[in-house]
Amino acid sequence: MPPELVPQRPEYAAMNPSEWVMQHEAALRLGSFVAVLGALAIAERISPARGDTRPARRQLANLGLMLINTGLLRLVFPVLAVAVAMSVHSRGGGLFGLLGLPPWLEIGLTVLVMDAAIYAQHRLLHAVPLLWRMHRVHHSDLGFDVTLGVRFHPLEMAFSMGVKLGLVYLLGAPALGVVAFEILLAAASLFTHADFAFPPRVEPWLRAAVVTPSMHRTHHSVLRHETDSNYGFLLSAWDRLFGSYTPLPLRPEREMPIGLKQWRTPDELGLPALLLQPFRAAPVAGPAPARFADKETPDA
Ligand SMILES: [Zn+2]
Repeated sequence: MPPELVPQRPEYAAMNPSEWVMQHEAALRLGSFVAVLGALAIAERISPARGDTRPARRQLANLGLMLINTGLLRLVFPVLAVAVAMSVHSRGGGLFGLLGLPPWLEIGLTVLVMDAAIYAQHRLLHAVPLLWRMHRVHHSDLGFDVTLGVRFHPLEMAFSMGVKLGLVYLLGAPALGVVAFEILLAAASLFTHADFAFPPRVEPWLRAAVVTPSMHRTHHSVLRHETDSNYGFLLSAWDRLFGSYTPLPLRPEREMPIGLKQWRTPDELGLPALLLQPFRAAPVAGPAPARFADKETPDA
């Protein structure tokens, strides 16, 4: 049969690769998220950095927040960043519309600029007291494993989505760049929170380019000057460039207490309490927490 007579499914006949990615965006995001989560859960068992993956109530609270956030994004933000990108980019709007760069450069710059913006947003979340109230929910976890990568208060998720939508609009970012960034950011959030230790000879080389679990672990130290450092998600360059890089925590990673001094009792760290935490004043801090005291309260 001549090629022109071979029956083709009409929806695939004239489809280029970027259209295919757009059509399968949700499946690609979900598939990569599940694959990365599974791979890291296995890696945490093979080479744990601290042993924080032992079953505890904190993991249920973290996964509960993930489910609420997934529902929130579908209900409150039916217009996702990708849809804004498709609309603005197709009519040549935003900064990229003025510059007329080749598509591959637009995609690369979208990922780079959005990673820098998420770094800046993270610094704001720490610096502005009202924003810190949302973000401290993420920091109040007393353990550090892959489930911490999905522990965000719905208000922080909504704030973050608003920032992303505004940025995509101003940039006139291509949808493919936005999808690539969303997939990378979700994977990076899981990866940087994994209770995983790279071999000491490999870790510094990796950290020269990207944020590693060890680098981000310092950001979850109970010491405030360490918490207020290492803000990056994807590239480690932003912290070095803007003077917020802490190479090593004061105490060895295996022993250093994780979390916040003020929020450490089990009744403050269940799912309902976490949802209400932004609206509550911080309790008075107790004595400085010790790593081994945390180990005795697996429910915390
Ligand atoms: Zn933070």
